[in-house]
Amino acid sequence: MCDGDSGNLILTGFMGTGKTAVGQAVARRLGRPFVDMDAEIEARAGKPIPRVFAEDGEAAFRRLETALCEELSTQRGLVVATGGGALVDPGNRARMMDSGTVVCLTCDVDEILNRVKRERKPNRPLLDVTDLRAEVERLLEVRHEAYQAIPWQVDTTGLSLEAVAARVMQIATAPGVILEHSQGLLFQHGAESPCYTLPVRYPGGGYAIHIGEGLLAHIGRALRAAGVPEGGHVAIVSNPVVAPLYGAQVEEALRSAGLRPFACAIPDGEQHKTLATVAGLYEQFLAGGLDRSGTVLALGGGVTGDVAGFAAASFMRGVRFVQVPTTLLAMVDASVGGKTGVDLPQGKNLVGAFKQPALVVVDPTVLATLPPEEIRSGLAEVIKDGVIGDPDLFAELEAGVHYTQRESHSAALRGLESDSAALQGLKIDNAHIARALGVKIEIVEKDPFEGGRRAVLNLGHTVGHALEKLSGFGLRHGEAVGIGIVAAARIAVKLNRADPSLPGRIAALLAAWGLPVQCPPFDADAIWEAMAHDKKRQGRGLRWVLPRAIGAVEITEDVPPHIVNSVLGSMGARSKK
Ligand code: NAD
Ligand code: MG
Repeated sequence: MCDGDSGNLILTGFMGTGKTAVGQAVARRLGRPFVDMDAEIEARAGKPIPRVFAEDGEAAFRRLETALCEELSTQRGLVVATGGGALVDPGNRARMMDSGTVVCLTCDVDEILNRVKRERKPNRPLLDVTDLRAEVERLLEVRHEAYQAIPWQVDTTGLSLEAVAARVMQIATAPGVILEHSQGLLFQHGAESPCYTLPVRYPGGGYAIHIGEGLLAHIGRALRAAGVPEGGHVAIVSNPVVAPLYGAQVEEALRSAGLRPFACAIPDGEQHKTLATVAGLYEQFLAGGLDRSGTVLALGGGVTGDVAGFAAASFMRGVRFVQVPTTLLAMVDASVGGKTGVDLPQGKNLVGAFKQPALVVVDPTVLATLPPEEIRSGLAEVIKDGVIGDPDLFAELEAGVHYTQRESHSAALRGLESDSAALQGLKIDNAHIARALGVKIEIVEKDPFEGGRRAVLNLGHTVGHALEKLSGFGLRHGEAVGIGIVAAARIAVKLNRADPSLPGRIAALLAAWGLPVQCPPFDADAIWEAMAHDKKRQGRGLRWVLPRAIGAVEITEDVPPHIVNSVLGSMGARSKK
């Protein structure tokens, strides 16, 4: 969260990592009030913390901490240093993460011991033990997962107070919030194009999505910053199409950050999104020496992410998972939200698990090698996100089209090939990806386990899935979804829930990107059957997501069949009658 925003800046981490001193320094520089939670609790209890522990017990202290977290999280504009254990509680952590930016300060054990001994503070009741090192190591182990769940990590080992404060200032005063998504940050890395970091929260934790050109070269540092320990094993899961393109670069970047990467191969294609492929990965994980502290990194499209994610969720009951999506669809859709899994012969995605990544790194330069039809397919989901929740994203994509049409028109007048101009104008950039992600993040944060609201992400999928299936998958997912969005808009118009101009506006944008907007001449009854089959599998009524306007959708089960039939007919489906 940036300085113009008044969210809190919260520093947490183990004892001796410098939360209080860094917090004071940063608060001074930002001109914001500083709250040290431990000092505040002592003031309220009227006695030092060791006495609270001794006289009232640790549980009483934790209750005071929780009450204070509740109170502070309703305020804004503060710099807060928490007690070392304050955010181990998932409720406290979620509350504080909601109120602003939480930064976890980390440090290696030797330095923690030195710092704690040097201070000889009497107020560390948890360290009133004979074997200090053993106790510090034990506590770090217990709290490991809680600390890991915080997206911003600053390793303070070997750094001066000033250096740590500078790093925290960098996080706190990112040049500006440019996305409507509440926590979108814009960073300028030297002369490179803008890099966005979007924090994502889920119950009890969170992670960061970094989006920036050239980020693959920095991926090792990103993993280390997200808490992957030095020397850690990283299984890079990729396929024979993507691995030769980007595998070596990723491996090198990981190795140069002190990690131990090794390559794992899966075959290319949806037909290999199976349990057999997952079993093959387990073998390779074991052969490569992956243990519980290891990391699985998915380098590829949605198929790779789904398979590797499911393997990471289940191998040794779950290891750390990192997503490096290389298709547009995986960047804006499959890599966020925590859904992973494989297909069964009976249907798609029938086996799976929720597995949240520890980090997502999006480097849009890899889209240069992605075939145009794959770009288009992902683009349908970007346009979908605009329709669901971001009118500005939609308008920007429209503006790109207008610009391109003008350019190619004037190029034609000058007797030039218009294609290259057209291709340059129609470009997906970091900002589009970040905005589309913003829409998905906001929705999955509100509905992490797909209980309700998340269904809006299925805009266009009711008809889309049916067409995809009937085409024997000759229609790509995105192509089918695009047609489905137009159908949903036309249905909304027929029900008087949307302006009559809406379907045309959506169709024009899809068509400009080369996506089909007419229904193939399938039989309308067959489309119904395919939709009904989907519904039966999900055990509920046929559910429609209808756009009311660009940026507003509603969910309804109440659409009369004759309206659907007439819309499908008007779009090219055949009727037997
Ligand atoms: P994909 O993973 O099959 O990738 C498409 C093709 O592009 C593949 O041949 C792949 O090898 C190739 N490729 C990938 N990156 C490339 C690059 N940079 N350069 C050149 N070639 C490249 O398909 P997809 O469209 O990315 O993903 C579809 C899958 O995602 C489906 O299985 C779907 O179920 C799943 N999905 C999952 C979620 C989720 O929430 N988990 C959401 C949406 C879709
Ligand atoms: Mg989809």
